[in-house]
Amino acid sequence: MENMQNQSEGSNFQITDHDIEKIITTAIELHPQLRGLKIETISDPGLMTLGFHRRPKNNDEASVVYINLGVSSEKIFSERKTSVQQVARKLGISESQMTPRLLKIFIIAHETGHAYDYSKFLSHYGSVEAANKHWEEKRCSELNDLPIPGITPPSVIKMHHNGSLAQYITENNLTSRLISMGIDPNNLTQIIERQQIGYKDTTAERDADEIAVQIMRKHSKTLGLDLDKW
Ligand SMILES: [Zn+2]
Repeated sequence: MENMQNQSEGSNFQITDHDIEKIITTAIELHPQLRGLKIETISDPGLMTLGFHRRPKNNDEASVVYINLGVSSEKIFSERKTSVQQVARKLGISESQMTPRLLKIFIIAHETGHAYDYSKFLSHYGSVEAANKHWEEKRCSELNDLPIPGITPPSVIKMHHNGSLAQYITENNLTSRLISMGIDPNNLTQIIERQQIGYKDTTAERDADEIAVQIMRKHSKTLGLDLDKW
């Protein structure tokens, strides 16, 4: 019964991780537009992210934040150093103060930030179809400015892991593009680093980060964050 009630309110509070529940509750408190947001868990060890937001496909669907339980925050913490450094900076803490737990909470809060961003498109354009069209246009143009155009950092990292990144660069004639951006086309570590920096600098990402910081600020005490730095 309790579960049914919570589901009808749009959020799945069955998730055992107390942090997750707290983040979602705070997000809805701060931004009531998020009331219809759905939270779902998946388990995909191949996906180099702890979570992502999925837009509805039609007016009957809800916005969903997926939380990936298949990859540990420890793994993301070690594999996505650049993102970890950037998150630490956003939170006003040093890299040594960053923990896998803080990163996990930040990512979930960040994904609700994307959901909030999308809810603004939806109320502005009035329908899922129109909102998606405009959202995709904006997203595509932002991703096309990245060193490896049109591809998100987790996908580039995946390509690096399965050994296809160098070939992708050659096949898509990206060598001169990378050089013009001051990137060594043979330095795959540098390419990934710059892809992550460029991605974090897109407006969609900066806005989602801002919401994440806002949510975490609400819980700075229980998260063990230094209030003076906020
Ligand atoms: Zn994001």
